[in-house]
Amino acid sequence: MKIYNSPEEIPIPETLTGRVAIKLHMGDKENRTFLKPGEVRPIFNKLKGMGCEPFLFDTTTLYKRERYTPEGYLEVAKLHGFGEFPVVIARDDRVKWVESGGLKIPLPEQLLEANSLLVLSHATGHIITKFAGAIKNMAMGCVTKEGKALIHGFARPTYYREKCLLCGTCVKACNMNLIRLERDRISINMKDCPGCGACARACPNGALEITEESIRESFNAFGAAARAVVSQFPPERVFFITVLKRITELCDCAKDGGKLISPDLGFIAGKNPLELDLEAARLIREKNPKALDWERWEWFVEASKKYF
Ligand code: SF4
Ligand code: SF4
Repeated sequence: MKIYNSPEEIPIPETLTGRVAIKLHMGDKENRTFLKPGEVRPIFNKLKGMGCEPFLFDTTTLYKRERYTPEGYLEVAKLHGFGEFPVVIARDDRVKWVESGGLKIPLPEQLLEANSLLVLSHATGHIITKFAGAIKNMAMGCVTKEGKALIHGFARPTYYREKCLLCGTCVKACNMNLIRLERDRISINMKDCPGCGACARACPNGALEITEESIRESFNAFGAAARAVVSQFPPERVFFITVLKRITELCDCAKDGGKLISPDLGFIAGKNPLELDLEAARLIREKNPKALDWERWEWFVEASKKYF
């Protein structure tokens, strides 16, 4: 797969027409490694030059930080320099439910009103999928809050009360403050839990577990959701660009993406999101074989192959 040094070099298919939604994660308020306006502008301008009406598109978060509401997200988008572009942050009040992989996936109508979709993804690590690229960008980023909760819901921790020492280690391990130590057990706010697994890794007695089965089910839901998104557009009107720059161990939802796991590698583009994800992961792995948990990533690939 060809690697481009700059976004200007990427050949965008002439088959993208009309209103083009550029699916872009514009970064957590405190994140510093998200894709920058200067990396988006050449793509945006090229689409305009083709006679299209491009706009940046994203959805709100499941967790309650600045991007939880469309208004809050628009403020973050401005803060991060995207004020020069038309930006649509979907409201969850108009939803189309799409069947995919045996699941019902809720997609915001504001995305489906576009004529074409350009998925612009930042290659990073990820707490659950380990590598995040085009499929994660669609699965998490093009569905409503209900969809995000559905996908994450498969991989939440299982609690074994009989093994619990009531030590409180898991309470400290949860960055999202979802665990409380009660008198004779812990309680977890499962509704907001993305299944990161930090509590299970920290527990000294195996009282919390995110099972392989549940992770695989979650990965199946990622694939099903991404397929649901692309199924709503004619194939010739969907295109993918992945940026391999500032590749951090965590995704752009993180306040701090963590350490860089690879040098900058450039841009890749194509029509198949799994091919792009495989190539991006291969390039990163080539530079840093220990960058990520590649075994877990292989599970993700296995699940995605059913859909792409
Ligand atoms: S998996 Fe555990 S540590 Fe991670 S968010 Fe859920 S409760 Fe918190
Ligand atoms: S870390 Fe494990 S043993 Fe300690 S309170 Fe949490 S679940 Fe119980």
